[in-house]
Order: sequence, then structure tokens, then C-alpha cells
Amino acid sequence: MACAKARCSGCRKWFTPDRRTATRQTMCKRTCGALRRRTQAKARRDADLEGYREAELERQRACRRRRREAAGRAPEAPAQAVSRAELVVQVRAIALVIVANVDRAAGLSRAELRREVARIVKEVVHDLGRACA
Ligand SMILES: [Zn+2]
Repeated sequence: MACAKARCSGCRKWFTPDRRTATRQTMCKRTCGALRRRTQAKARRDADLEGYREAELERQRACRRRRREAAGRAPEAPAQAVSRAELVVQVRAIALVIVANVDRAAGLSRAELRREVARIVKEVVHDLGRACA
């Protein structure tokens, strides 16, 4: 006896389920299931974007660590390791601060500008000293 037709829960087309999985099969073909899993994964990511990004960052680090170890290279220093994504974000933030400061500095006299630059350099050197310590 032929299996009864079923309606795909993805594309809504009628299909004949495989007779081995007739009672459980709800999708017509693999691509429909893959599409549904992709849609569900996107919804999960959108629901918790920050959590997803942190988990992805950690997953990427673990993957790179495994690859390095498999290649027999020395492990990267785990403390304060900056990823490329974090670096791009930091560069953007620094660029915004620089642009804002240039706009402000354009209105200063030369003497005020010199004092302001000296103050910023001292602050940066102090921060660098703390970061390297
Ligand atoms: Zn389908």
C-alpha cells in the first residue's frame, strides 16, 4: 500500500513521505529542513544578539586554539588577546574621539592647542604604562 501524501511544513507542497519515516517526516526534502533550521537559528541569534556574539567569539577562539595546537605552533598568549573584530570596534571608537577632538581643537588658539595636546599625550602614556604593567 502506498503511503498517504503529506503536506510539507516548510514549503506547504504535497509530498510522499519515505515509507521508513512516514509517521515522523514533516518536510518534503532536505533543503526545506535546512531552510527551516537556518530560519530558527537566525531567530535565536536575533533574540540574543550580544549573547550570540560572545558565544561566537569564544567558539572562534577555541577553534583557532585547536588549529594552532594541531599545527604544532605555540599557543597565543590568552591574557588580553584582542580579536580582529574587537580591534575594528576599538579603531572606530578612537577615530570618533579623534574627529570630535579635532573639531573642538579647530576653535582653540595655538597655545591652548599645545597645552591640550600635551595633556592628551601624558594621559595616553599613563594609560599605556598601566596597560603594559
Ligand atoms: Zn518542502
